Amino acid sequence: MDRKFLLALLSNAVRELDINNQYQCHAFINLRFVCSACGVEIFFNESEEDDYPTPKWCRSAADKAQRTGWFISPPDADGNYDLTAHCPACNAKRGI
Ligand SMILES: [Zn+2]
Repeated sequence: MDRKFLLALLSNAVRELDINNQYQCHAFINLRFVCSACGVEIFFNESEEDDYPTPKWCRSAADKAQRTGWFISPPDADGNYDLTAHCPACNAKRGI
């Protein structure tokens, strides 16, 4: 893929996502949600539209992850992410 084309795609995606939303950032970087504790993976690609892995998918998957109890570490005081994720089952074990 041409580098300029790739950069254009990435900059368009960034404009459509909320960089302050750790769920959207996690979806964009990982293209799935992966639990840091047990390793379970989920794509949240339930849409009939073939929108994976577009920014639209990132927003939709982020909403579903948040609604279903996934925990993504929020940014630190400097706005940096470690994007650690925990699935609902592991959150329950951790008492979150
Ligand atoms: Zn887990």
